[in-house]
Amino acid sequence: MNFEEINSVKALLSKPQKIVIVPHKNPDGDAIGSTLGLWHFLKNMGQDASVIVPNDYPRFLKWMPGNEDIINFERKNSEAKERISQATLIFTLDFNHLGRIGQMQSELESADATFIMIDHHQEPADYAQITYSDVSMSSTCEMVYTFIEKLGGVQAITSEIANCLYAGIMTDTGSFKFASTTSRTHRVIADLIDKGAENTKIHHQIYDTNTPARLHLLGCALKNMVILEKFRTAYITLSQEELDAHEYKKGDTEGFVNYGLTLDGIIFAVIFIENKEEGIIKISFRSVGDFSVNEFARKHFQGGGHDNAAGGKSDVSIAETTKFFESLLPNYTDKLWI
Ligand code: 5GP
Ligand code: MN
Repeated sequence: MNFEEINSVKALLSKPQKIVIVPHKNPDGDAIGSTLGLWHFLKNMGQDASVIVPNDYPRFLKWMPGNEDIINFERKNSEAKERISQATLIFTLDFNHLGRIGQMQSELESADATFIMIDHHQEPADYAQITYSDVSMSSTCEMVYTFIEKLGGVQAITSEIANCLYAGIMTDTGSFKFASTTSRTHRVIADLIDKGAENTKIHHQIYDTNTPARLHLLGCALKNMVILEKFRTAYITLSQEELDAHEYKKGDTEGFVNYGLTLDGIIFAVIFIENKEEGIIKISFRSVGDFSVNEFARKHFQGGGHDNAAGGKSDVSIAETTKFFESLLPNYTDKLWI
């Protein structure tokens, strides 16, 4: 955001607005943390604001302050639509194009509000009047901290805001280990702890509240792992049947894809998860180093994301999808070959 954009945000927020804040579909820790963090900040300024999520999100994110006030577009459809149509200002957080919000896309496209995008994904679409995009940022939560800082509001960061932003930075950086983690990320985290983020409690609430069924599902996923040493690649599959047998709930497979990368020598890890209801295979891609999974997901699997973490989907069966996936690898021998 340049100087003029910061000033126009300040001018907008100096007047009462009807604000809606929206994260992407299947929101993760960064999406929920950033929307709620910004929501607290705007509410504390006296603004009328609400967070509207396209659909439900994992239970291990539901401890965040403000969670009870989140409006689920699927469950409270008419209230959500009314708020969107009356909004004067809409913040879209943690996604780069409106195709990422599912059923809410048409609602937002016909909304008569000023749009502000805050996001760290590559290739931001051009729908917002103010686009704050920075692909070098670890997370949208780190961007919301910076956004507040640019508005001169760091002193107004409460413990509620600090807890929400800490959670999103932690989840999007794999607990401060991914390459996107900078010294600045740690400085922001340190300040959030000073402002009341309960770091140990947040790690516990997100990572150490497993159910036995989820751990058994992880066991199943690890058993299914296929290791293609020649291509420094490991992939996992989970069928709908396997998910059902382990009482699958939203969020249960979060982080499974990363196990492939814990193998010595593996630089490309993938998980294919069947979703019978949507009739798709949802795919997560992870890499270390300069193999861009963002490009890979965009080119072959209708997706995108970041260089080292991306997602996509396939409309054919798991077996056909993995067969197609394996057939692509020889095209990437320059990056993947030992
Ligand atoms: P995950 O694999 O954890 O769902 O997502 C990893 C990253 O890729 C996230 O930044 C997420 O926003 C992005 N991503 C996941 N699925 C998709 C998709 O279908 N399309 C696009 N464009 N990005 C995705
Ligand atoms: Mn993010």
